[in-house]
Amino acid sequence: MDQPAQPSAQPPRQRPQLPAWTLTIKDAFDLSAGMRRVLFTTDRISEFSYKPGQDIVFFLPDPSGELGRRHYTIRSLDRQTGVIAVDFVMHGATLGPNFARNAKPGDTVEVKGPRGRIVFNPQADWHLITGDETCIPGILHILEHLPAGARAFAFVEVQDSSWQQSFETKGDVAIEWIHRGPAGPSSIMLDRIAAFGLPDGKGQALIIGETSNVRTQRHHLISRGLTREQIASEGYWRPGRNGGHDHVDD
Ligand SMILES: Cc1cc2nc3c(=O)[nH]c(=O)nc-3n(C[C@H](O)[C@H](O)[C@H](O)COP(=O)(O)OP(=O)(O)OC[C@H]3O[C@@H](n4cnc5c(N)ncnc54)[C@H](O)[C@@H]3O)c2cc1C
Repeated sequence: MDQPAQPSAQPPRQRPQLPAWTLTIKDAFDLSAGMRRVLFTTDRISEFSYKPGQDIVFFLPDPSGELGRRHYTIRSLDRQTGVIAVDFVMHGATLGPNFARNAKPGDTVEVKGPRGRIVFNPQADWHLITGDETCIPGILHILEHLPAGARAFAFVEVQDSSWQQSFETKGDVAIEWIHRGPAGPSSIMLDRIAAFGLPDGKGQALIIGETSNVRTQRHHLISRGLTREQIASEGYWRPGRNGGHDHVDD
């Protein structure tokens, strides 16, 4: 016999109602062998407001005509030209990379957003930011917008040096590119942050990338005394998962 449903301690998460936008492609080009940039605009660009680190959800048609949700970070928005840049990791022949590969000026795509809690906290004394290739757009956009003197430590795990990008910042930034080989679950970032001495003061940690890597880093930082409120973490992808994102709040 079915048991009556028990009231759950945690109500189910509701998907937030996000503003919808039709983006028009202006241009697309390779940044490197593994990363392709697509430039977009929208006739409501003056209404588009976001914080560096936030993303938009693309609705991309799959071969059967169904729409798949894929999150991509806003790499930049040039208010003068009204152009939004998004950088796609070209890891395979999947919806996201296929969209970027086939992007033609004048084509349109439906998106929702901006969304996301992976943003700079001006109250923190220092900032630790970790991620993989999929996080380069967010990490660099956040670093580029740091106020003068903001102290940030960025660790980015990438396949090899071809992924490294230069950037400008007013912040006091130490960035380390960690060469790892193929992307996926690994302990390389956990080992790096285990060797990282946490600075004095109240820090903020932004931990993103492959979900299992994010989870182990989050648990490690909590074991070293960071509170859950000091850490914003999100799984950007994981083997076998199509689209979406993983909450890593435990
Ligand atoms: C908030 C947020 C922001 C993001 N920002 C960006 C961004 O700016 N640029 C970006 O490129 N990605 C970004 N991502 C990650 C991107 O959404 C995922 O990688 C997504 O799965 C890509 O969709 P897909 O159609 O290529 O592959 P899917 O159809 O989703 O997945 C197919 C297979 O490919 C694997 N896979 C997915 N991504 C990767 C990868 N990077 N490397 C190796 N295997 C992979 C999957 O695990 C699955 O097995 C972001 C994710 C989130 C949640």
